[in-house]
Amino acid sequence: MTFEADINSRLAAVRERVERATDRAGRPRGSVRIVAVSKTFPAEYVRAAAAAGQVDFGENRVQEALQKIPATADQKIRWHLVGHLQSNKARKAAEAFAYIHSVDRRDLLSRLDAAAVEAGTSPRVLVQVDLAGEVTKHGAPVDAVRDLLDDARRCRAVRAVGLMALPPLTEDPEGARPFFRRLREIREQLVAGGVDPSLVAELSMGMSHDLEVAIDEGATIVRVGTAIFGSRSR
Ligand SMILES: *Cc1c(COP(=O)(O)O)cnc(C)c1O
Repeated sequence: MTFEADINSRLAAVRERVERATDRAGRPRGSVRIVAVSKTFPAEYVRAAAAAGQVDFGENRVQEALQKIPATADQKIRWHLVGHLQSNKARKAAEAFAYIHSVDRRDLLSRLDAAAVEAGTSPRVLVQVDLAGEVTKHGAPVDAVRDLLDDARRCRAVRAVGLMALPPLTEDPEGARPFFRRLREIREQLVAGGVDPSLVAELSMGMSHDLEVAIDEGATIVRVGTAIFGSRSR
């Protein structure tokens, strides 16, 4: 099979998994968006998925994305940054990405906003929440999320739209369930505490091996790499 045909059929399979999981959870069709994570794969793979109707694409490194974005500029694509963002790359990220899933500190948020104002962009951001304490390195501590969202409300160009989590990897997809559930509960508590629901509408959680569990726990965005593009060498 050509890689185009491969991507086509894998993408169809992922859409089916998402639909089935959405139905099973009793949630409306179309309430879960797939972000195709194309990291390590060439621009031709992005094109192939775009030709199959995929619109949202994710990258975890700014530098790598900045190669692929111009190479696919003729496609209708929304780019998402799903990986850690260093402050010194905030400017480039604010220019290039429609969504940034990894905002986890105030200085990063204000840099992004200043850069977006200057660039005339309006990136949507998600607050990455560290649910596992010492296990993961990135993400805001749970008790810092509220302050970040308050800051985000005062931003001029950046708009907070949700929360993101990257639980520690477990072989059994069910192992991630407590983390996914926790992220949903954090959202509920924030809203109960007076946070504008539109700031936390999206829950970005679930990847190739555990997207069903994430959808069952309320994911609105799943970030899917290997199940669409194949396994990565790095
Ligand atoms: C690579 C990556 C994914 C996709 O992982 P797969 O297991 O390949 O589906 C999702 N989220 C983030 C943050 C990633 O870096």
